[in-house]
Amino acid sequence: MTALHCAYCGKRVTKRDKEHVFPKCLYPPSKAKSKVQRLTIPSCRDCNDGWADDEAHFRNEIAIAGEPNPARRELWEANVLRSFDKIDGLRRARDIVDRMKPVSTDADIRYKIYPGEDERVIRVVRKAIKGLCYYHKVLTPVSDSRIWVDVLKYVIVPEFLDQMSHHHREQDIVEYRYRVLNEHGINSAWLITFFERVPFIGLVSASENVFPK
Ligand SMILES: [Zn+2]
Repeated sequence: MTALHCAYCGKRVTKRDKEHVFPKCLYPPSKAKSKVQRLTIPSCRDCNDGWADDEAHFRNEIAIAGEPNPARRELWEANVLRSFDKIDGLRRARDIVDRMKPVSTDADIRYKIYPGEDERVIRVVRKAIKGLCYYHKVLTPVSDSRIWVDVLKYVIVPEFLDQMSHHHREQDIVEYRYRVLNEHGINSAWLITFFERVPFIGLVSASENVFPK
């Protein structure tokens, strides 16, 4: 039997030590019994700990960014609003309100949210990329400093998009594409889109010290 290793740190783990690649909390109630297999990977307890808070914050922020699709609207109504009623709900709501920035338009002031500027959001996406790197046997384990993540701000040329292999587990919740490059110091490129609206781009470097700290 081959030994299992934690996808995040490389430590040996048992079969029972598992973690979801994408946060479970992104799935609204109607998707809870989905037949689509959720991705899980081996993960030690140390690496499993300490994610719940950032993942809930991630869910709340993504649920508010951009136009909602039906899955996200359900998540907002059934999960996010309810989370504000819980004991730490006021803090959670404030965490989101703090992220909103005023933008002047001709008529009035609107508030926008920028997930790419939120380190807690980026941290969750980085974790997903680590999990996918393991799952697709691209590279493992990958340290934080080797993953650069941002919200996708530019249109990717179709030729490059065509060269990325396309995967989706539940398109209205999350879908992703990736491509192994191994050139210019870059190991692989990842494109992860949440709720068909919020796309993140991630690059994994082939070695340490490629991305500025
Ligand atoms: Zn670990």
